[in-house]
Amino acid sequence: MNDCIFCKIINKEIPSNIVFENEKVIVFEDLAPVAPVHILIVPKKHMASAIDLESEEDFDYIKEVYKVAKIIAQEKEISGSGFRIVNNCGEDGGQTVKHIHFHLIGGRKLEGMA
Ligand code: AMP
Repeated sequence: MNDCIFCKIINKEIPSNIVFENEKVIVFEDLAPVAPVHILIVPKKHMASAIDLESEEDFDYIKEVYKVAKIIAQEKEISGSGFRIVNNCGEDGGQTVKHIHFHLIGGRKLEGMA
C-alpha cells in the first residue's frame, strides 16, 4: 500500500533496525520502545488489522508471527523471564499504524493490561 509506513519499511523505502525477516514477516525495533525489548513483528502482506484476516493464507501469516516471536524471544533471552505479544486492533484498541503488527515486549516486569 502506497502510504503505509510499514509497507515502506518492508520495501526498504525507509530505514528501520531490522532484526529478522523471511518471506512472510519482517521484524524490526520499535521507534519508541516501552521496555528493554520492544520489537514489532509485521506480516509482509498488507492487512489493516486482525479484523481483516480472511483467508487461510492470511492466517498463515499469523502462525508465522508466533513462530518467529518464539525464536526472537529466545535470542533476546526473555523466553524464561516472560514477555508479551500485543496486537492492537482498531481505534479503541489503540492501533495507530493500520498495517497489522504484533509487539513483542519484554526485559522488565510488565504491569496492568490497559
Ligand atoms: P500500534 O499503536 O499498535 O499501532 O503500534 C504502532 C507502533 O509502531 C508504535 O509502537 C510506534 O512506536 C511504532 N512505529 C511507528 N513508526 C515506526 C517506524 N518508522 N519504525 C519503527 N517503529 C515505528
